[in-house]
Amino acid sequence: MDCLFCKIIAGEIPSKKIYEDDSVYAFYDINPQAPVHFLVIPKAHIGSAGEITAGNSAVVAHIFEVIAKLASELGLANGFRIITNCGEDGAQTVKHLHFHVLGGKKLIEKMA
Ligand code: 5GP
Ligand code: ZN
Repeated sequence: MDCLFCKIIAGEIPSKKIYEDDSVYAFYDINPQAPVHFLVIPKAHIGSAGEITAGNSAVVAHIFEVIAKLASELGLANGFRIITNCGEDGAQTVKHLHFHVLGGKKLIEKMA
């Protein structure tokens, strides 16, 4: 499958890895939008949040556990934002489910 994030997971494209386990991979965004900006993705390919089902949602719960752990380790105790863009109207550019984690400063309140 021609998927950028599947290639990053496979090590075919380099990334600044933060964390990895059997089902999840976390790495810094190449174009950070905040002092701390990383992405957390399932290793199994899921196209977007619109493709989460009862059959594949366990990894999503695990991703949120990993986000809480990494946010603490990376100094985001004062808060952070989690974003997932979905589909055309959500301005999703990489079609592999990913959760942006942004922090390290007071973020703007505007959401869209
Ligand atoms: P989206 O717009 O789909 O929500 O977010 C895709 C994110 O992936 C963007 O923030 C973009 O900077 C990031 N990105 C795109 N290509 C690469 C890459 O090759 N490496 C890394 N680390 N991030 C990437
Ligand atoms: Zn993929």
